[in-house]
Amino acid sequence: MPDYPELKLYIGGTWRKTAETIPVLNPATEEVIGQLPVAQRQDLDDALEAAESGFRIWRATSPRDRAELILRAARLMRERADEIAYAITLEHGKPLPQARMEVIRGCEFFEWDAGEAQRLYGHVVPSSPGIRYLTIQQPVGTVAAFSPWNFPMSQPARKIAGALASGCSIIIKAAEETPAGAIHIARAFHDAGLPAGVLNLVFGVPSEISSYLIPKDQVRLVAFTGSTAVGTHLTEMAARSMTPVLMELGGHAPVIVCGDVDAQAAGRMSAARKARNAGQVCTSPTRFFVDSSIYEPYAAAFAERAAAVRIGNGMADGVEMGPVANHRRIEAIDALVEDARSRGAKVLTGGVRPNGPGYFYPVTVLAEVPDDARVMREEPFGPLAVINPTSSLDEAIACANALPYGLAGYAFTHDAATADRLMNEIEVGNFSINTLEASVAEVPFGGVKASGQGREGGMEGMRHYVEVKTVSHRMELELEPTVSGARA
Ligand code: NAD
Repeated sequence: MPDYPELKLYIGGTWRKTAETIPVLNPATEEVIGQLPVAQRQDLDDALEAAESGFRIWRATSPRDRAELILRAARLMRERADEIAYAITLEHGKPLPQARMEVIRGCEFFEWDAGEAQRLYGHVVPSSPGIRYLTIQQPVGTVAAFSPWNFPMSQPARKIAGALASGCSIIIKAAEETPAGAIHIARAFHDAGLPAGVLNLVFGVPSEISSYLIPKDQVRLVAFTGSTAVGTHLTEMAARSMTPVLMELGGHAPVIVCGDVDAQAAGRMSAARKARNAGQVCTSPTRFFVDSSIYEPYAAAFAERAAAVRIGNGMADGVEMGPVANHRRIEAIDALVEDARSRGAKVLTGGVRPNGPGYFYPVTVLAEVPDDARVMREEPFGPLAVINPTSSLDEAIACANALPYGLAGYAFTHDAATADRLMNEIEVGNFSINTLEASVAEVPFGGVKASGQGREGGMEGMRHYVEVKTVSHRMELELEPTVSGARA
């Protein structure tokens, strides 16, 4: 069995421990599996200095050489996929096959961005004879990034890939509850020969680290994935120094199920997807608005499949869903279920926390949930789904768009005109039809409204990590410039 990695900070190309540590738990057993160093001010100052010198080297490295190094690191991560997946399951709880898929997905983010690094084209703008206007794309500088615990490998991978591919240096504070994915990424880049200081990894008290790093002059971009509340706070902090932000925030994804689809197949598929990562996905399908003509068979199939989801320790064979990642999620989900129940919602399955150690919670399906129930507005970020009937497409669209969130949305339909209307009118950054997949490396991902700013992945993802510089180049000296500035 592979070892859980030794937990350290990675600053200026070297690994370091600190005197103060916090325990990391296995959420399936509640046992301590490691002690995580807590970065102190000096560590953060060292990281800032390292990132500055790393940036000087990295921005002068050719895009092709940057891409080659990133691809070398990704190859190492693929070779180590079993070891990394094991560590992720241990600290996060998700089933081992899902952890392995996550590692591969993280590698795909690196591989995609390595390609994009070589396509950061500028323009030559048509201009008058004797003068040439150019735009060039240059890396912004040092990125301060903050990644959450739901995908310990692929979340930090997104941000590190974008920064490194574009020629930036990065200080990333990865999640304290799930540090191993980011540690394995740093290890792979170290082994691949990344110059010291280009990638720096810290852990500690999130609010202390963000409030120390974000106002620093060296930090030229803040990239965060997490809740809308924290994202808003970090955006306000960054605004004080006009530092741009890339924010991937919460969601409360609607699913519109039209009357022309196979109700049972769609119901089973929806329940299986809800269980993925124990529902702790910002794009997790949560509010299902089902055409009343197929509501009953859809809800029955959904509940039956949800009740059959095999829950247990992610290390065990055949387990489909592990525990949720921490105790906070259990309390949050329990409170939402109780609130909905007290307002008259039906609990089709789940809703009762099992006894024993581990943060387990069953896939829970609520039906006919009134609009004033908290779960209709608050993101559950757990294995909780709401299924409500709708009597028209207009009503379903209104329900889907009713919240301030706008990350992912889904629909099941085979009608081209309905699909076209939905893709135009649903207010989200990522809309998927007849699939509950919302994000792959080759397409941009991100939210509208309160779900964030900016995109990661695809051709668009790199834009945040570069600034456009306009160059005006006159071939001869402008000997007698006009005072008015009018073109000679
Ligand atoms: P939380 O809001 O306390 O933390 C969310 C994330 O932000 C964590 O990774 C945390 O370390 C980080 N964070 C918190 N305060 C911070 C600060 N001041 N500076 C920098 N980072 C900070 O909530 P939680 O209980 O850990 O997670 C639950 C909520 O977080 C969910 O409701 C969900 O909306 C959100 N979340 C979203 C994603 C996503 O992929 N968009 C991932 C994880 C969590």
